[in-house]
Amino acid sequence: MTRLLIVGPQGSGKGTQGVRIADAFGVPAISTGDVFRAAVADGSDLGSQVKAIIEAGDLVSDELTSAVVRDRLSQADAAGGFLLDGYPRNLTQVMHLEEFLEGRGEELDAVIELSVPRDESIARLTLRAQEQGRTDDTEAVIANRLAIYERETAPILGVYGARGIVVQIDGVGSLDEITARIVAALDARGVKRTAAA
Ligand code: ADP
Repeated sequence: MTRLLIVGPQGSGKGTQGVRIADAFGVPAISTGDVFRAAVADGSDLGSQVKAIIEAGDLVSDELTSAVVRDRLSQADAAGGFLLDGYPRNLTQVMHLEEFLEGRGEELDAVIELSVPRDESIARLTLRAQEQGRTDDTEAVIANRLAIYERETAPILGVYGARGIVVQIDGVGSLDEITARIVAALDARGVKRTAAA
């Protein structure tokens, strides 16, 4: 069983690395942002509940998000483990996840913290906004999102750090270099690869 989280600010590249690491360790990469966007695209019940929230750039409630994650983690492909990206996003969600895992007699193996200096995150996000023509994504909006990360999400690393399972990774470098750093750090901790089902 391989149970991983990847945590980092917007613009840290955690979505890309999350998929690569999940592939390397043989588990599904589960991104709550992707799950919500897919639900909106499908027009499912969940999609209609979250559409307006996501489009306004607000957060889905902790209760609904946690229910969606529990449901996703209960599917067959996550039986051998998982890599979560975008969840838990605050301390309440940590509590929900812990309750769920404890109920199954499970625990996380490692929490990957992808660190990128604030200026670098802002530069990457500003470039992405320009490339995608998102003129609403101004430097002030981006700075605000990073401040929310620092206030709400960074504290979850304190909880997992106290448990000794945080693996800190320098997120500056080429995509391949960063993947290699994460794989090496997880191997050094003895995190197992899950055999394909
Ligand atoms: P971002 O990191 O820019 O917020 P994501 O792709 O992670 O982008 O998420 C897209 C949207 O999905 C968020 O704006 C939010 O509405 C919702 N979302 C994703 N993860 C969570 C979460 N853990 N808690 C609440 N809402 C979430």
